[in-house]
Amino acid sequence: MSRKPDDARRTLTAVNPATGEALGEVPLATADEVRARIEAANQAFPAWSALSVEQRARYLQRARDYMLDRLDEVCATISRENGKPRVEALSSEVFLVADLITLYAARAPSILADRSIPLHNPLFKATKSSRLVHQPLGVISIVTPWNYPFSIPMSGIVFALLAGNTVVFKPASGTALVGLKIDEILNQGGGLPPGVLNTVVAAGSSVGTALFEPPVRKVVFTGSTEVGRRIHEIAARSFIPTVMELGGKDPMIVCDDADIDLAAAGAVWGAFTNCGQVCASVERVYVARSVHDRFVEKVAARTRALRVGADADHEVDVGPLANPEQLATVEAQVVDALSKGARVVAGGRRPVGPGNFFEPTVLADVNHTMKVMREETFGPLLPIMPFDSEDEAVRLANDSEYGLTASVWTRDRERGEAIARRLLAGTVTVNDCVYTYGLCETPWQGVKDSGIGRSHSDAGLLEFVFPKHVNVDRSPGFMKRRMWWFPYGRAAYEVQKLAVRAFVSAKAMPRFLASVIGRKDYRKALM
Ligand code: NAD
Repeated sequence: MSRKPDDARRTLTAVNPATGEALGEVPLATADEVRARIEAANQAFPAWSALSVEQRARYLQRARDYMLDRLDEVCATISRENGKPRVEALSSEVFLVADLITLYAARAPSILADRSIPLHNPLFKATKSSRLVHQPLGVISIVTPWNYPFSIPMSGIVFALLAGNTVVFKPASGTALVGLKIDEILNQGGGLPPGVLNTVVAAGSSVGTALFEPPVRKVVFTGSTEVGRRIHEIAARSFIPTVMELGGKDPMIVCDDADIDLAAAGAVWGAFTNCGQVCASVERVYVARSVHDRFVEKVAARTRALRVGADADHEVDVGPLANPEQLATVEAQVVDALSKGARVVAGGRRPVGPGNFFEPTVLADVNHTMKVMREETFGPLLPIMPFDSEDEAVRLANDSEYGLTASVWTRDRERGEAIARRLLAGTVTVNDCVYTYGLCETPWQGVKDSGIGRSHSDAGLLEFVFPKHVNVDRSPGFMKRRMWWFPYGRAAYEVQKLAVRAFVSAKAMPRFLASVIGRKDYRKALM
C-alpha cells in the first residue's frame, strides 16, 4: 500500500500494510509525463508491430525466465507491498504469469494467424476471396488495481505485446513497487525495445484523461465499477473501445446434497484468500435450509483456525487489508449488518496491534436489506443465508448489480451444471470457487456492472487486434464490370431476379445458367 501521494513533492511512499514500515519513495508522473510516454509508445508501434508473433514471443519468454530466476524476490516484493502471504503471491500471481507466457507464446501464432472466410454464394465463391487479418491496434492503456498487482497487469501486458501493440501501463499507486518490478522484468529482463512498454506511476486523481484518448486505441481497465464507468465514458467520447474488469458480489450456492466439509473448506478459502480482496471472492453464501446449521458450524470452526498476521516465515493464512479505506468499509458493513439483526459466528473485530488487520468474520441471519449482501465488501466477511428451494437460491444469487463469478456446490454434477446455466455471471464453477483466473486458457469476464470484454483465453488475446477484412477479386480479366455496378437496366434486373432464386435453391440454378448462356444482354449485365 502507499501513503497518500504527496503532490507537492511529487513522490509516493510505499508502505507495508502489515507493519506500517516504509518501503521506499517512488516519483510520480505528471500529466505531461504521461502524455510523453504515450507518444513514446506511439513512436515504437510501427517497428514492434512489424515483428512476427514468434519474434515478439521470444522477448516475453526471456522476461519469464528472468522472473523465474528471481522468484523469491518477486514474491517478497508482492507480499511486502500488498500484504498477502508469499504462498499466495506465488500461487495466485507468479504461477499464472509463467503459465500464461509459456502457453500463449506457443499458441498466439495460430490464434493471430489470418483466417480465410469461405464464401458460400456460387457467384462470389468463384470470383472473390475473403480473409480476416488480425491487425494490432496501436497504443493500449492498461490501468490496474492493487489486489493482484502482478498477475492482472502482466496478463494484459503480455497479450497486448504478443498481439503487436505497445503499452502504457499505470499500476495502482498502492502497489507502485510491484508495478516497477513488472517494468524491470519486461524491459530489463525481456530486453524490450525502448517505448514498447511504458510504466507510469501516478495517482488516479491527478493522471488526467490522456490515457483514455487518442492516440491510445484501447483501454484495458481493472478496478472498481465506479472508476471504470468514468473511464469508459471518457474513452467513449473518442470511440475508444475498452475492456472493463470491474467489481463483484459473488454468490455461492450450497445445495442440500453438497459435500458439506468440502463446501465449508471452499467457502472459507473463497472468502478469505487475499484477505477477501478478490473481485471473485465468495461474498454471499446461500445454503439449503436442511444443511444450513451444520454448514455454518463447520465454516465457523475453520475460520477460527485461520492464522492471521504478517508473513515472516510462511506460517500465516490471512494477511492484512491493503489499506485503511478497505478496513473502514469492512467495519462499516459489519456495523450495518449487526444493526439489522445479523449475528457474528466467528471473528468480527480488529485484532489489537499494528497493521490493517481484521479478523476473518462469519455472519449468519443476514438478508438482502444489509449492505454486506448488496455492496462489494472486498474484505474478510462471509455472510451466510438459508434458502428453501432451488428457484429461490437462483433468484437470490441473481439479485445483484454484479455478475462476475458464482459457484454451485452439489454431489450431483448435472444438477450443478443446470443451476450454473441459470446464474447471471461471467464464470460459474461447480464444487470450487474463485480460482479460474488461474486457468489462462479460459475467459475472465463479467456481466452487468462487473464489466465488458474479456481477459485471458483466445478470446482475450483477440481483444488486442482488429479483425480487418481483406477481400480480393479473382475474376478473369475479361470481366470488365461487376453485376452490381452501373449501368442498370431491364436486363440487369431480370438476370438478378434469376440469380436470387438460383442462390436460394439449387433447383433454380439450371434456369439461371441457361439464361446467362443463351442471352447476350444478360451476360453483358453480369460481366
Ligand atoms: P480503483 O477503481 O480505485 O482503481 C483501479 C485503478 O484505477 C488504479 O490504478 C487507480 O489508480 C486508477 N484510477 C482511479 N481513479 C482514476 C482516475 N480518475 N483516472 C485514472 N485512473 C484512475 O480500484 P482498486 O481499489 O484499485 O481495486 C479494487 C476494485 O477492483 C474492486 O472493485 C475489485 O472488484 C476490482 N477488481 C476487479 C477485477 C476483475 O477482474 N473484474 C480484478 C481485480 C479487482
